[in-house]
Amino acid sequence: MQRAGSERTAWVRGAGPTGSLAALALAEAGWRVHLLDPQTPEQLLQRRRAYALTHSTQELLIQLKLWKHLSSCCHPFRRLELHDRGSKASTLFSAPEAVGWIADHRPLQQHLLEACHQHKAVAMHLGTGSSPSPSPDDLQVIAEGANSSSRDALGIGFRGFRYRQSCLTVQVKLTTTSSSSDDTAWELFRPEGPLAVLPFGAGVAQVVWSAPQQRCQQRCELHPEAFLAALNQALPPAAQAEVLLDQPAWFPVEWRLAPRLGRGTTLLCGETAHRCHPVGGQGLNLCWRDVATLAALAQQPELGARQLVQRYGRRRWLDLIAVMIATDGLIRLFSNGHRLLLPIRRFGIALLDGIPALRRLSLNLATYGPVGMLLTGAWQRPNNQPP
Ligand SMILES: Cc1cc2nc3c(=O)[nH]c(=O)nc-3n(C[C@H](O)[C@H](O)[C@H](O)COP(=O)(O)OP(=O)(O)OC[C@H]3O[C@@H](n4cnc5c(N)ncnc54)[C@H](O)[C@@H]3O)c2cc1C
Repeated sequence: MQRAGSERTAWVRGAGPTGSLAALALAEAGWRVHLLDPQTPEQLLQRRRAYALTHSTQELLIQLKLWKHLSSCCHPFRRLELHDRGSKASTLFSAPEAVGWIADHRPLQQHLLEACHQHKAVAMHLGTGSSPSPSPDDLQVIAEGANSSSRDALGIGFRGFRYRQSCLTVQVKLTTTSSSSDDTAWELFRPEGPLAVLPFGAGVAQVVWSAPQQRCQQRCELHPEAFLAALNQALPPAAQAEVLLDQPAWFPVEWRLAPRLGRGTTLLCGETAHRCHPVGGQGLNLCWRDVATLAALAQQPELGARQLVQRYGRRRWLDLIAVMIATDGLIRLFSNGHRLLLPIRRFGIALLDGIPALRRLSLNLATYGPVGMLLTGAWQRPNNQPP
């Protein structure tokens, strides 16, 4: 066991958004950190995607002194319109500062890698398969994404299932028919699957469009004009797409959870440990709540790597299971045109629309997860504001 007071060392495998943030959190807590990824920095930046970030994520970034820099690439949206196409019910969530933020992958990842590069406690080993070896007492953080080979080598499975729905993502320029389009995000529940429009400034938005896999594939192969026509039929009149800014791409959607979150001195973080449907924009926020727990435990000088891994597993379970069940429940409830469910959905959304406190509660639920909301007292915060 490492002696209390001696310098503690961590090895973070995977420099995606979760791994690079975990490296910074550990370095800020006084650990010496090695960050490893077979991809070069340029390859790490190349993904075309945008993330919805919640207030719980903002709080972590403030705590790690990163928000000041990252906020420049996080576009706030103050309105979230929710429509259920099946029951024709809708409601509007709003908050004076922000309901949430949308961040484009490239500048976000770039800021994180630069912050790692500048931190004197972080040694980066990117774009190389070779690196020094950890000692048995070092902490190992596996943030290698869903197809992690280290998780498999530890003998920890990744249980769950693949949805019949897949997810198509594309960036578009929206028409300016609505003056508030840059300020408004949409979540549309459609019988084939949810469709989200996430604005990230200058009229540009990320579309996340879930539908049966074959349909996603067919749509990706459409001529751009035909694709835009199909997309605009699905979008609300106030958020019509004018120009495609990249090639639509689809990826499979899964519900997967590792049955344990660590072994010995190694813990699993982010999509190595869990993967859920992108409905409600939970994905990266859930990954970064793993980092928030790791950051809190890393600050306790008396904890050796083994104890830290055990406590991390105990603290993360409830939140992960609650959020994953909730996202799956939303998909089962809304991705259909079941006649018996339509009145229930209509009634539920009418309740939300009529009772501001209920809207506030559900927004805080999506922000902090059921467990975090109860533990932090966030359920009573007005307008989704941080403490
Ligand atoms: C095609 C696609 C599109 C997506 N679009 C969106 C979107 O629009 N919005 C959204 O919110 N979410 C989206 N997601 C989900 C989102 O990308 C994930 O939630 C997020 O990337 C998880 O971050 P992570 O750091 O845990 O894993 P990853 O981002 O997968 O990062 C894992 C890193 O580990 C590295 N690695 C792998 N093996 C090793 C190893 N053996 N040793 C060291 N390093 C290793 C990889 O090179 C990679 O850099 C998308 C996912 C996919 C697959």
